[in-house]
Amino acid sequence: PTVPNDLDSFWMPFTASQAFKENPRLISKAQGVRYTTIDGHELLDGTGGLWCCNAGHNHPTITKAIQDQAATLDFVHNFNQGHPLAFEAAARVTTLAPGFDHVFFTNSGSEAVDTALKIALAYHTARGDGNRRILVGREKAYHGINFGGLSVGGLGLNKGQFGTLYPSTAHMRHTWLPENANSRGLPEHGAELADDLQRLCDLHGGQTIAAVIVEPVSGAGGVFPPPVGYLKRLREICDAHGILMIFDEVITGFGRMGTPFAFEAFGVQPDLVTCAKGMTNATVPMGGVLATAAVRDAFRNGPAKMPDLFHGYTYSGHPLASAACIATLDAYRDDQIFENAAAMAGPWEDMLHSLTDIAAVMDVRNCGILGAVHLKQDGAVGDAGRAAYAGLWDAGLIVRPVGDALCLSPPLTITQDHVDEIGAKLRAQLAG
Ligand code: PMP
Repeated sequence: PTVPNDLDSFWMPFTASQAFKENPRLISKAQGVRYTTIDGHELLDGTGGLWCCNAGHNHPTITKAIQDQAATLDFVHNFNQGHPLAFEAAARVTTLAPGFDHVFFTNSGSEAVDTALKIALAYHTARGDGNRRILVGREKAYHGINFGGLSVGGLGLNKGQFGTLYPSTAHMRHTWLPENANSRGLPEHGAELADDLQRLCDLHGGQTIAAVIVEPVSGAGGVFPPPVGYLKRLREICDAHGILMIFDEVITGFGRMGTPFAFEAFGVQPDLVTCAKGMTNATVPMGGVLATAAVRDAFRNGPAKMPDLFHGYTYSGHPLASAACIATLDAYRDDQIFENAAAMAGPWEDMLHSLTDIAAVMDVRNCGILGAVHLKQDGAVGDAGRAAYAGLWDAGLIVRPVGDALCLSPPLTITQDHVDEIGAKLRAQLAG
C-alpha cells in the first residue's frame, strides 16, 4: 500500500494532520502493546490506539467472538425486532456501573455525547421544566466532533469556523493552575474552581441550566486531572439547582482509572455517563450512554405525557459490536485488566515524575494510566511536540502530541518492563 504524494488532492477519510502529510507513517499489524509498520518498524503503543485498546491489540477472546458473530448473524436492527446479544451487552455494561440501569447504544463517543445532551434536554421537558435549555461545558474540553459535542467542547481547533453551534451554551473555566505544575497527586483548590459553575448559575439563573458535561479527567485537551474536591463540588451545585450532571467517560471508562468507570474512583455519582472506545477494546465501533432509571423513564415517557420519543441508530446494538463488547468485558474480567491498571498507577506516576529533572520538560501530569509530559515551548506552539513525536516514533514509541504535551494512555496490560521502556525512550529523546 502506498500513499499519494499530494495528499490534499486526494480524498481522505479524515482530516490529515500536518505531520501525517509530511511523513505518512503506515501501520499494518498490531499485537499486545506493539504495533508494526508496513516496513517492519516495531513500536510500543504508548497511546493504546487512541486511548482505547485497554486489553492490548488483537486480544484472542475478542477477535474470535467477532469472527464467530460475523459468520452467524451479521446484522439485524433492534427496532421492530432485535437480537439477544444487544440485551446481554447492555446488562453486562450496566453491571459495571453502579446506579445505572440503562444504556443507549451508539456507534462512537461523539454520538454518545450528542445522545446524552438530547436525553438531558428531553428529561427536563418531560418533567414540565422545558425552559432549561443551557448546556454547560468547560474550556479545553473534548466531547467529540458532532453538533452537541462541539457546542459544549472547548478546543478552538475543533470549533474553528463553526463558533457556537447550539446557541444556549456556557463554559466553565479550565481547572489547571500553573502553580500545580509537576505536582504529584491531584492538585488542590478543586472546590473553589468548581464554584465557577455557581458563577454561571448566578449569571444565567440556575433554573435555566439543563446539564453540565465534564470529562472526569480531561484527555484530548492534554490530560488534566481534576483538582481535589472539584467533581464533588460540581455535583453539589448541580443538586442545588436541579441540573443534570453528565460525565464524559469516553476515555476514562473501562478501567483507565483502575475502576470500571472514573465516577467510582472519584466517589461522585453523575446522572448520565457517555462511553465508547474501551467498550469493545476499539475493535468494532460502539459507544453508549448510561442513564439512571429516573432519567431513562422521563426521557421515554415522562410525567408530562410526551409521546414515546424515538431515538436510535440503525447500528445501535449492532450484533458484531455487541459480541465484541461482551467478549471485551470477559477479557477485562479474566485478565484482571482493571486490577492491573490500579496496581500499575503508582509505578506509572513514578516513571513520569522521574522525568521532571529534564530541562525540556515544563510539566508532568498523570491520573490512573493516563499521563502527559508537557514540553517547554520551542518555536511556535506545537513545534516541540511534533519534533518529539517524530523522534520517539523513530525510537519505537508512539505518543499523542497535543500542542507541546505528549499524551500517554498505553494499554492497561502494561507491566513494569513496559513502563521502564517508555520512561527510557522518553528520557533518551527529551534529554538526549
Ligand atoms: N468524548 C471524549 C472525552 C473523547 O475523548 C472522545 C474521543 N477522543 C470523544 C468524546 C469522541 O469520541 P469519538 O471519536 O469516538 O467520536
